[in-house]
Amino acid sequence: MTEMLKGIAASDGVAVAKAYLLVQPDLSFDTITVEDTNAEEARLDVALQASQDELSLIRAKAVESLGEEAASVFDAHLMVLSDPEMISQIKETIRAKQTNAESGLKEVTDMFITIFEGMEDNPYMQERASDIRDVAKRVLSHLLGVKLPNPAAIDEESIVIAHDLTPSDTAQLDKRFVKAFVTNIGGRTSHSAIMARTLEIAAVLGTNDITKRVKDGDIISVNGITGEVIINPSEEQILASKEAGASYAKQKAEWALLKDAKTVTADGQHFELAANIGTPKDVAGVNENGAEAVGLYRTEFLYMDSQDFPTEDEQYEAYKAVLEGMNGKPVVVRTMDIGGDKELPYFDLPKEMNPFLGFRALRISISETGKDMFRTQIRALLRASVHGQLRIMFPMVALLKEFRAAKAVFDEEKANLLAEGVAVSDEIQVGIMIEIPAAAMLADQFAKEVDFFSIGTNDLIQYTMAADRMNEQVSYLYQPYNPSILRLINNVIKAAHAEGKWAGMCGEMAGDQQAVPLLVGMGLDEFSMSATSVLRTRSLMKVLDSAKMREYAQRALTECSTAEEVLELSKEYLSKH
Ligand code: PEP
Ligand code: MG
Repeated sequence: MTEMLKGIAASDGVAVAKAYLLVQPDLSFDTITVEDTNAEEARLDVALQASQDELSLIRAKAVESLGEEAASVFDAHLMVLSDPEMISQIKETIRAKQTNAESGLKEVTDMFITIFEGMEDNPYMQERASDIRDVAKRVLSHLLGVKLPNPAAIDEESIVIAHDLTPSDTAQLDKRFVKAFVTNIGGRTSHSAIMARTLEIAAVLGTNDITKRVKDGDIISVNGITGEVIINPSEEQILASKEAGASYAKQKAEWALLKDAKTVTADGQHFELAANIGTPKDVAGVNENGAEAVGLYRTEFLYMDSQDFPTEDEQYEAYKAVLEGMNGKPVVVRTMDIGGDKELPYFDLPKEMNPFLGFRALRISISETGKDMFRTQIRALLRASVHGQLRIMFPMVALLKEFRAAKAVFDEEKANLLAEGVAVSDEIQVGIMIEIPAAAMLADQFAKEVDFFSIGTNDLIQYTMAADRMNEQVSYLYQPYNPSILRLINNVIKAAHAEGKWAGMCGEMAGDQQAVPLLVGMGLDEFSMSATSVLRTRSLMKVLDSAKMREYAQRALTECSTAEEVLELSKEYLSKH
């Protein structure tokens, strides 16, 4: 049956393909007393063999698409599967307790997990606990005859349907096959959305219950531009989707002509268009899309993609690769922004009630817990600085004291390196992100000490509106054009300019086509966005008159009381587009 639903349009693109459900199946079972324990042992053997075959296959695919190192996690799983000690204990339990294979498996694996997890000062054994948990789940799925999802194994054109996708789930998607994804939760600024745009995979998020409505193999049409999703579309709807896809491709081809053009408004004012990246691999996309700079390098992905804290040398190589890849163009590197929805499996941070308001980002970096990690990152950055035009910024600054503490580490490590005879650039700018309303209000004071601001609207809006950016129930409060947000942004830009500093924006609002005219009008200097939005924004700027946009922004700031009024007012100024 055809069904239509609407979610949050999170990444442009149109696709029609078969659904691949990435949901955890129900693995509950009853503990049963059995007579024939031999039969249960035999069932266990069959499930173990099936798990082994399946894992070997997944491993081979992972090597192909992600490389040998990323596939090594499956070696650990295969090792657990063939551990004779564990297998014989499970069989013994089945016999001694006359119980079914499911409960024998669970009892023994739970015991190992508890022991290993208890070894708090042994991260290696703790990792093994998580391997055993994964393997036990797989064997159980075979005993129960249910299928476990595996995003890395997708090898035909698919639309991934999930409750949510973590950044690491998203990183596993092979864009040759995964044409789009649709989730129950999340919004335009959740990290799954940001990664979808970087990977150029269409995405619609926050549909509430897509996982309940779709079955594996249903045909799904996804429009990441409008947020529309159709389950089992009619022939006509499929045709319409294909047409929408073709017209988007044509539009993209037109924008592509602007790749080497300067970013200027109709009256010749230049604005810098930069791109956001997560890994050095993304630099290729930045250059293909003609961005003039990297305005945000989210370095936490370097930490998230690794099994342990990346070393100074590993980080140096990554930063050097980005700086060299940009060929002397500016690169703004943000120091690690761990916390919120970005967790590190090997970094044991306490669970918090409100992770977005908790111990995260710079708060970790300048704490006792994180200070060594931060020093390592700063040293790697300083060493890499000679390979291009480096700018460093600190995330989640609320207090001047926090900025000063971080800047002190920068100054100390710079002095240390110079004393060691290591070359460091003298031109590194050091700035902060404006993500917390307190810093936006006090921007005039910050502007005296920092080299630049980059406004992180994803968080600034969530904190100003007190609305979790991951929660689709409150997504109506994500209002970039609300005059309260515009006033904060305007305050930041004015404060920067009063001290002769520049103000940029690296939150998703910078690439929002309805926000760009307002930001041009407020005199934002640099716009940093998903690389895939750069050319479209350049094309929009070409038709804007900056004097007219100044008037529009001024009126929005002083006359409007709602986001709707701001958009209504835009009609007077943007009538031609
Ligand atoms: C932001 O908060 O706007 C930002 C760019 O940082 P992130 O999305 O990584 O939190
Ligand atoms: Mg942020």
